[in-house]
Amino acid sequence: VSGIGAQPAVTHYDLIAIGSGPAGRAAALQAAQLGRRVAIVDRGPAMKGTSTTGALPAKALQAAILEVTGVAPGLRLNGADTAITFDDLLWRAPQAIEHEQDAIRDQLRRSRVDVQTGTAAFLDSHTLEVRSGAFSQRVSAELFMIAVGATLTRPPSVDFDDRTVLDANGMRHLREIPGSLTVVGAGVIGLEYASMAAALGSKITVVDRSTRILEVADDEVADGLGYHLRGLGADFQLGQEVVGVERPPRGGAVTHLQSGASILSDVVIYAAGRDGATAALNLGAAGLQADHRGRVAVDDDFRTVQPHIFAVGDVIGSQSLAGTSIEHGRLAALAALGKPVRSPKVAFPRGISTIPEIAFAGHAERELAAAGVPYVHGRAAFRQLARGMISAHRAGFLKLLVHSQTRCVMGVHIFGPAATELIHIGQIAMATDLTVDSLANAAFTAPSYADAYRIAALDATSRLSETGVAPISAAS
Ligand SMILES: Cc1cc2nc3c(=O)[nH]c(=O)nc-3n(C[C@H](O)[C@H](O)[C@H](O)COP(=O)(O)OP(=O)(O)OC[C@H]3O[C@@H](n4cnc5c(N)ncnc54)[C@H](O)[C@@H]3O)c2cc1C
Repeated sequence: VSGIGAQPAVTHYDLIAIGSGPAGRAAALQAAQLGRRVAIVDRGPAMKGTSTTGALPAKALQAAILEVTGVAPGLRLNGADTAITFDDLLWRAPQAIEHEQDAIRDQLRRSRVDVQTGTAAFLDSHTLEVRSGAFSQRVSAELFMIAVGATLTRPPSVDFDDRTVLDANGMRHLREIPGSLTVVGAGVIGLEYASMAAALGSKITVVDRSTRILEVADDEVADGLGYHLRGLGADFQLGQEVVGVERPPRGGAVTHLQSGASILSDVVIYAAGRDGATAALNLGAAGLQADHRGRVAVDDDFRTVQPHIFAVGDVIGSQSLAGTSIEHGRLAALAALGKPVRSPKVAFPRGISTIPEIAFAGHAERELAAAGVPYVHGRAAFRQLARGMISAHRAGFLKLLVHSQTRCVMGVHIFGPAATELIHIGQIAMATDLTVDSLANAAFTAPSYADAYRIAALDATSRLSETGVAPISAAS
């Protein structure tokens, strides 16, 4: 490390991951496991990717709200209970974050991955400058993983003060539960916070320029969440463009819509968009260019137009989820190091910490329909399950999408409690070409949420026998 003005030494690595979030870590650890000399560069003082600063606190908040609202998403706080603060709800989050960061540091140390602290910028296509305050150093590598994640969009027309007008990381900084909350953005993060605030008794308004909510999810799941939130008094202003958010002197915040309408609420959370965090990277020096939203284009192996530079996780603008980013990092490192890459057929599971939870893997119904794939669905409503009744969880369902001829599971969509755990049964079923008959005949503990797989599989098999389509083997 050199002071400014001194001649910096260059340390050389086989692979450098820029960013210590889930994508960069997974790539670095995979390369280290294969015996390569690896470094991770992060501008943060600790291992603080968005998953520990954003996703983990969001999950901690969701868990606490489920506990204080009696674990049932329909039961809301009322009367004296509303004196509860966000500090009360988040008391476990700092320990969880610290624990996670310690575990990450320990894992990197044991895997002999060097950690360099500072903001990275390309000097040329094989060299980075890593700058931290007055100090800078140079590092070079054969291979790079750009894993810088995304930054929350903060348009100038929105008068953020991080107290009444907040970005998507802001809800956990609120002192009190707002009486009314406007959430701009009906995507994953916006709906996570909207559903949590609704469970706490806030009056919710969700605004989005799209006419659909939660576009990443299967339509029936998105509709299920919308129906549930409307039942808690939420108002959806869809197909509406937000032109600005202001803070009037009398308090609260006013969200102005292009239609001329405006919404007054105690608090606004602006959760409409995240841009690739590539501004500081000096991509041009490496012969790369980001698009207008800071995103880096890659091929199926996560390779950029420079064959030795890969990009993974939120910066490529795909699913923007922690689990997906981990898999990107792992697959990209394998591709970069010339190792066989797992079949792309394997479905990534995706989890969303709404209340109730959402998780899915494989194809959505609209994709199968558009591709002309013959399929049937099988459904199990959680209110059919003794386990659901015991916990007072009546909202929710599990849906299987089954190929009409091979009888293999092609998609699993879950809306309801424990969805982010249950999804892995479906993921394994898809990865191993399990037929719906195997799921229908499987033994599950009872009463359990997992039993929804058996009920949904039975529903699908009875639809299959109604269609009379001749079965063919999965291999044909
Ligand atoms: C509020 C919120 C809630 C979320 N909830 C969920 C959820 O429930 N489930 C889920 O799966 N996902 C959730 N996510 C998304 C998830 O956190 C991200 O998809 C995931 O963290 C992306 O991983 P990544 O490695 O691509 O980037 P990040 O985790 O963002 O890591 C990028 C790292 O790069 C570093 N960096 C950036 N630029 C530079 C530079 N020039 N030099 C050096 N270092 C740099 C940053 O400091 C950061 O540590 C949530 C996100 C937010 C914001």
